[in-house]
Amino acid sequence: TVELRDVTKSFATNDGNHLVLRDITLSIPPRHIVAIIGASGSGKSTLLRLVAGLGDGPTTGEATIDGTTIAEYDSRCGVAFQEARLLPWRSVFENVSLGLPKGTAKDAGEARVRHLLELVGLDGFADHRPREISGGMAQRASLARALARNPEVLLLDEPFGALDALTRLRMHDLLLEVHAASPTTVLFVTHDVDEALKLADTVLVLGTQKRPATATRDAERVPGATVIDVVQPRELR
Ligand code: ATP
Ligand code: MG
Repeated sequence: TVELRDVTKSFATNDGNHLVLRDITLSIPPRHIVAIIGASGSGKSTLLRLVAGLGDGPTTGEATIDGTTIAEYDSRCGVAFQEARLLPWRSVFENVSLGLPKGTAKDAGEARVRHLLELVGLDGFADHRPREISGGMAQRASLARALARNPEVLLLDEPFGALDALTRLRMHDLLLEVHAASPTTVLFVTHDVDEALKLADTVLVLGTQKRPATATRDAERVPGATVIDVVQPRELR
């Protein structure tokens, strides 16, 4: 279970502290697929990075997986970033291999990477460098690297954003297949509401809230995004 309790996150900026996330409390049971949607800049990536243990953790509150505080680069998490972040001087094959858990035997690791490259449709590109493949291919390589870890918690930041419609549908199927085959919790960010409703058990909407106007004060937005709506698509189906 992934749990956030009263989490806030702020960043120090030139003009003081910038509160990005406010009062986030949520609990994601094992095997659950959760989609996060919200406007650009609402803190979706920040939330995902928190769960992955990237950056210096919540400003206040607590983030845990199965009751244990999330560590820096928590080994229970597999992450695919919004910008793919492949190492430019390494081949696609080597980049995906970097996702393998420490101590994986060489032969088993290589076989797993070959298999994953095939699943994401990159088997012909194992020896290419990241600059020799397209943005969508880099995204798929990044997804394969996250899957290589066989993580308890799979964290995907707009994993299908750069894909053409057909490849996106293929990757949806792949994600659902991988999920059916191994007990992963999935947390993914998307701007595509249809994708969120199709894939997720729960859709979290991040956004800011408005303080009501009073006689002496206009309505204003409360700083910091929080979960402003929770949708359970399966109840709508
Ligand atoms: P998008 O849909 O465009 O990817 P997002 O919802 O993922 O947006 P974030 O990247 O989480 O948004 O950013 C939320 C806010 O946090 C932004 O105002 C951003 O400037 C700020 N922010 C994120 N990371 C940092 C950081 N390391 N230092 C300072 N500010 C940050
Ligand atoms: Mg983002």
